[in-house]
Amino acid sequence: MTRKSTPRSIPSPSKTAFTRNDSIRYRITPSRPEAHLFEVSVTLHSPDRAGQRFMLPAWIPGSYMIREFAKHIVSLAAMSQGKPVAVEKTGKAEWQCAPCKGPLTVTYEVYAWDLSVRAAHLDETHGFFNGTSVFLLPLGCEDAPCEIEILPPEGVAYAEWRVATSLAQTQALAGDLGQKRPGKRTSAGVLPSKSLGTFTATNYDDLIDHPVEMGTFTHIAFEACGVPHHIAITGRHRCDMDRLAADLKKICEAQIRFFEPKSGKAPMEEYWFLVMAVGDGYGGLEHRASTALICSRDDLPREGDTKITPGYRRFLGLASHEYFHTWNVKRIMPAAFAPYDLTRENHTRQLWFFEGITSYYDDLFLSRTRLIEPLTYLEMLAETIGRVHAAPGRLKQSVADSSFDAWIKYYRQDENSPNAIVSYYQKGALVGLALDLTIREATRGKRSLDDVMRALWTGYGTQGDGVPEGGVEAVANEIAGRSLEKFFAHAVHGTEDLDLKSLFDGLAIDLTWRVAGHMNPKDAPPPTLGVKLGGEAHEAKLAHVFDGSAAMDAGLSAGDAIVAIDGLRVTAANFDRHIKSRKVGDTLLVTAFRRDELMAFNVTLKPQSPQQCVLTMRDTPIDAKRRRNDWLWGEAH
Ligand code: ZN
Repeated sequence: MTRKSTPRSIPSPSKTAFTRNDSIRYRITPSRPEAHLFEVSVTLHSPDRAGQRFMLPAWIPGSYMIREFAKHIVSLAAMSQGKPVAVEKTGKAEWQCAPCKGPLTVTYEVYAWDLSVRAAHLDETHGFFNGTSVFLLPLGCEDAPCEIEILPPEGVAYAEWRVATSLAQTQALAGDLGQKRPGKRTSAGVLPSKSLGTFTATNYDDLIDHPVEMGTFTHIAFEACGVPHHIAITGRHRCDMDRLAADLKKICEAQIRFFEPKSGKAPMEEYWFLVMAVGDGYGGLEHRASTALICSRDDLPREGDTKITPGYRRFLGLASHEYFHTWNVKRIMPAAFAPYDLTRENHTRQLWFFEGITSYYDDLFLSRTRLIEPLTYLEMLAETIGRVHAAPGRLKQSVADSSFDAWIKYYRQDENSPNAIVSYYQKGALVGLALDLTIREATRGKRSLDDVMRALWTGYGTQGDGVPEGGVEAVANEIAGRSLEKFFAHAVHGTEDLDLKSLFDGLAIDLTWRVAGHMNPKDAPPPTLGVKLGGEAHEAKLAHVFDGSAAMDAGLSAGDAIVAIDGLRVTAANFDRHIKSRKVGDTLLVTAFRRDELMAFNVTLKPQSPQQCVLTMRDTPIDAKRRRNDWLWGEAH
């Protein structure tokens, strides 16, 4: 992909064409793992004669929040021809060196103790970093090729450390040259993980899009459509690597063929799943040829297990999601990200598409690859429908506005978020579903959202052009063969619920609602306070008070700790029992601490509304069944 890669709003002093000598050389080593410090240096052969400026990104693409990575730069100094060069901090993430003829080397320490997929982490067991956390950009050198030397920590204890990254390797360390340390053998043969050594990147944009894991991770390799794929798992685990590789291979091949049905050609030369297994965790970040994932070790399949547990399903869904991003957002990207401005928020109203549609396809690919049964898929979908329906914020914010304000709302949620915002992931996935079913209906099953994705891939992704606002809509209109203007006004820019019931009806699927745990709809609905508890395990502290609830009407607020109802002590453990033993319309005396002040509230209980969605397939004439199978299994394609 070719992209204009000069970040906007960064002035580019004295730009010239770059020669080989102009490549930027980086060196990174975990200099003090016990103090979580990487030592990094960047060397320029020909620095700006007026004084070279440097910057560090304020955010990492894929995670839409300003994170100020520069706060973790502990110390920084510059040298040229053996002499110190004065450096001045000129902004929150900008440095200016005094003029020098060069070469110029800036050396700095980066504190790395963030165990997430978004930043950097280092201790005696492993090192992980994203380029956005550790590599300074010399301004004006955005397009220069980069050479990166990755060194292990000093000492025999680290002699076995290897590297897992999609950065292209040019040379292994001297001791590793010619040495074969193969990864685990798979049916695809042996593909080794990488030695520490020298790597290259075509420019700064490429440099920061290949996270690096170093250590003694478990590794397995497989091929998908002829392209080497690797899984590296860090952290203690008992994963059945062969099974994981076989299952991921199915997902990867299905997605490669989804976008390139004729050629079956993947857009990358290799791909890495970098997995951090922990006691309790979940998250992922997409890159052009890899993904960093964090998961609970119990979600990984164990030797001897054959079932797909809900945890393993969650993990496969996460891997499927990030892999789909290889096309949708890394190559088919919003115009607002082409190129990224790494100094500030990059606003787009399209995250409902890039995240929501990716969320729609992630689980659908588990069904299309037969890893899960259609019924299980419908259960997962029903759960998403129920989750969107449970938050009153869906009636106040559209997914387009949720996309635009991701930086200050979705990524910075607080006690009022369920009342004020809608998730562009979850509702975005439902918009994807509704759009897919609408196109299938409009074209009598001949076209679908799959065709929209392929048209966007061909029209934008393979061309390196960003998708402008309205670009997705235009392609969808073309595929549907009619204007979907009303659909988008309602689903993307509106705040009313989507009419999924009638769309499912065309596939002979019934959508019904019920109150969770309340099996007989003829019985009176159970009462509710309309709150969600949080805080310490023993305490009935209110994390959220839902808009229009009995609790809100009575004046209870998030943060209030309920201590008694009608004079009886209440804890988190018996809270539900206290409410369920009463009837709708009963008035309770609720006593709660707000800060350190004891307060009393008269709460009149309201009925629980049905928020659990149920999807069931009904026996059906052959035509609707075929359309249903086409959707669930992608058989039409
Ligand atoms: Zn995503």
